[in-house]
Amino acid sequence: MVGSAIVRRLQALGFYNLALPRREELDLLDQKKVGKYFTENRPEYVFLAAAKVGGIHANNTFPAAFIYENLVIETNVVHAAHETAVKQLLFLGSSCIYPGVAEQPMREEALLTGTLEPTNEPYAIAKIAGIKLCESYNRQYGTDYRSVMPTNLYGRGDNFHPENAHVIPALMRRMHEARQRGAEEVVVWGSGQPKREFLYVDDLAEACVHVMELEPAVYRHSTRSMLSHINVGTGEDLSIRALAEMIGDIVGFEGKLVFDTSRPDGTMRKLLDVSRLDSLGWRASTSLEEGLRETYRWYLAAQVA
Ligand code: GDP
Repeated sequence: MVGSAIVRRLQALGFYNLALPRREELDLLDQKKVGKYFTENRPEYVFLAAAKVGGIHANNTFPAAFIYENLVIETNVVHAAHETAVKQLLFLGSSCIYPGVAEQPMREEALLTGTLEPTNEPYAIAKIAGIKLCESYNRQYGTDYRSVMPTNLYGRGDNFHPENAHVIPALMRRMHEARQRGAEEVVVWGSGQPKREFLYVDDLAEACVHVMELEPAVYRHSTRSMLSHINVGTGEDLSIRALAEMIGDIVGFEGKLVFDTSRPDGTMRKLLDVSRLDSLGWRASTSLEEGLRETYRWYLAAQVA
């Protein structure tokens, strides 16, 4: 989802010499193959969007896969980038790198100031390692590896799996199917009370290219060598209940929402402080309603295809 959005953005800006190996062509878990790919293709700029991702249930069910695959992808790609003198690399993390209970909105400085939310700790540890990997290579080798930490993402290309997806695609699909069946109720996990911030994937792609295009001195000046990541979000959040109601309106589901409190809530709030990126000249432009409508259009089109 994220990689495709970055490609759309780069193409819209006129970049054409893009190396886009598919999974069958390059297994990022295979160190030798990654090294060989970089040696043969010599990319100058690398967007590291590839990751093992999933919603709260997937993170809880497959913790080993989430920590292992993300650590291996990061170490393979960052090291290969260094060995082949890549000019710039952008590493994508996640807002779950911050402590489970943190002052809101969360500034970049909140990193490593407390314990992590247990439902996605393994994934978060891998993403923190990715930031530190980039910073360490920068410090030891003078490379220019940057990191962005997006808030919860959604949009076209998302995974709509009923159990393993994130909340937006999961609820969109459940409500769509409930409306088709004429069902009167839809189950929403947890209490409905947690709040989340959502960023449309094309906005994230725009932000990634913006950060990549900053002059090295500007990036260095606005970050610190051991606190180099930049938050990407909208600066606004809403409760899962309010989100579910909004998705219901868009999908046309008029039944009742039933909250299943046997399912985990996860962290109660994780709103990002986006002032660092704001001061660097980028701000999100897609409203949640607009983004949800676009995502639903994409989902419907994918159903027909
Ligand atoms: P998180 O931000 O890592 O917790 O990511 P999720 O998107 O998986 O979950 C966000 C919140 O939505 C959590 O409080 C979930 O309990 C809640 N939620 C409600 N219904 C669902 C659902 O059907 N799927 C998922 N994944 N989360 C849901």
